[in-house]
Amino acid sequence: MRGAPDLAMLAIAALGACAREPTATSAAARPSTSIAPAPASSSDAAPSAVAAPQATATDPPPGLACLARHYVGAPLHDGEGWVLALPSGARVAWDDGRKKTAAETLDGPDLEDMLATPYRAGPIAPVTQVDHDPGRARVERLFGEAYGATEKEVRAALVPWKLRGHTFLVHRRALPAFEEVRARLDVAVGKDPSLSPFFEHMGGTFAYRAIAGTTRKSTHSFGIAVDLDPSRGHYWRSDAKPQWKNVVPQAIVDAFEAEGFVWGGRWWHYDTMHFEWRPELFDCR
Ligand SMILES: [Zn+2]
Repeated sequence: MRGAPDLAMLAIAALGACAREPTATSAAARPSTSIAPAPASSSDAAPSAVAAPQATATDPPPGLACLARHYVGAPLHDGEGWVLALPSGARVAWDDGRKKTAAETLDGPDLEDMLATPYRAGPIAPVTQVDHDPGRARVERLFGEAYGATEKEVRAALVPWKLRGHTFLVHRRALPAFEEVRARLDVAVGKDPSLSPFFEHMGGTFAYRAIAGTTRKSTHSFGIAVDLDPSRGHYWRSDAKPQWKNVVPQAIVDAFEAEGFVWGGRWWHYDTMHFEWRPELFDCR
């Protein structure tokens, strides 16, 4: 019986991860990875180290510890494998042991899958590797606990972000990164005014919705994504015969990537107006 609260628990500090109040409703994660809430000591407020004296001194996978730093929760070995214990008490598997196709990975990734496809910043280049979509696999539960599990929760955490004369709403956790991007873009547009039109009729930031053609939440739902002028972007679903193409200039991509935003132009399933704040893809591999 694995019920004794402190038996074989090896909780690693979540390093400043900002835990929300443990009021989020627990729509179950995958059955194999969701169990009863963790003891109050590790589910309330900011998780702190709860190292049982008898716990084996093995470290969590570095990627898991890194995800906990950027999002919420604490790495924990539950006796069967490493999981991320979330503030609500739910647990999600680091490695669920399943071999998945690309489509299955998008539909039901484990945490390891989120980091499995390398994100390559730098000079813009066509994406030629089929299904090379770094960042598109997301454990939605993790985002829900970090940013808000419902539209109401997310909306309560939105703050204004001004860019090139327009005001948008973004999640307060991501605001510092958005502000750094704004500063970089102001400098870039000052040097090269031809960048300016990309920001005149922007697609925007927050929108609580699913990704087109799926039931998965778009990262726009969490206030961590922004679309430039859609008329200057290319989107794989809009093309009769999808073929990567791009007109978004390098200087814009550089400004976002420097602050931990991934660009949809790095995806086989391209969406070149789209940027989203995913610092783990720059930091956790
Ligand atoms: Zn977008």
